[in-house]
Amino acid sequence: MAGKIIDGKFIAKKIREELASGVSSFKEKTGRAPRIDVILVGDNPASHVYVGMKEKAAAEIGIKSVKHEFPSITEKDLIELVKKLKNDREVNGILVQLPLPKDINEENVLSAITAEKDVDGFLAENLGWLCRGKERLQSCTPLGVMKMLEHESVEIEGKHAVVIGRSNIVGKPMMLMLLNKNATVTVCHSRTKDLASHTKTADILVAAAGVPEMVKANMVKDGAVVIDVGTTKVDGKLKGDVDFEGVKERTSLITPVPGGVGPMTIAMLMYNTLQAAKKQEGI
Ligand code: NAD
Repeated sequence: MAGKIIDGKFIAKKIREELASGVSSFKEKTGRAPRIDVILVGDNPASHVYVGMKEKAAAEIGIKSVKHEFPSITEKDLIELVKKLKNDREVNGILVQLPLPKDINEENVLSAITAEKDVDGFLAENLGWLCRGKERLQSCTPLGVMKMLEHESVEIEGKHAVVIGRSNIVGKPMMLMLLNKNATVTVCHSRTKDLASHTKTADILVAAAGVPEMVKANMVKDGAVVIDVGTTKVDGKLKGDVDFEGVKERTSLITPVPGGVGPMTIAMLMYNTLQAAKKQEGI
């Protein structure tokens, strides 16, 4: 069975169109656009590319984005800026582009953002709400995976979902989102013994390890839904965690890299920004 390829670009475009109409009605009600402030520190080329993509997506759907860019800044000044934005009623979402330079403690900076404006969904408070089964601002990448599964009408309840990866921004929230939809969830990580024995039993397999093409055809159950979150540059090309050509023959649904989860992540950032803006305005 060759799996259907889930078109993340298409789904993300549809979501952006829906968001654009949500943004229009927000503007009608409040007289202004939802606003996201993005803080970019240092010269990491990938971070500059990501921020550019976020600005483009915001402009396309009518969200105002304001960039605060610094070649370098002290942790104290950065926290001051975050606090200023936190207290500015015009600002609905605050995003600090990671990674920050090594001399700045990310936890200290992120914890200066208020949970209501945490459009990345990274704060302990928002992860805690997710842990309690409440949907507040949720981490964009796993949220994008859930929207893809929903779009493809994948049944989650009662299914065995296996997540490879346990990071705070992808693996753990992914585990919680699937659990909250009544999947039975197994989380695998770098110290998991015999990874294949777990992945082979997955109805839904989410790979988020950052190890190119580690998931091979013989690690996947026939008819599984395989979502590839991984993105690693290999010889200038983006590779996922899944050996796409081999694995796709065994799946019912599979995401490609690029063009799968990636576009969904940015769409979800815009979704979170609109949600945050509406909540702050009591809409
Ligand atoms: P991370 O490095 O913080 O976490 C990786 C996780 O994978 C860890 O929990 C680790 O235990 C596990 N892992 C590593 N090697 C493993 C192995 N051999 N077997 C089993 N588990 C293993 O990374 P992250 O931030 O969670 O991101 C994961 C991947 O997803 C990366 O490739 C990243 O670039 C990608 N990513 C993509 C998007 C997107 O929008 N497409 C967004 C975020 C992250």
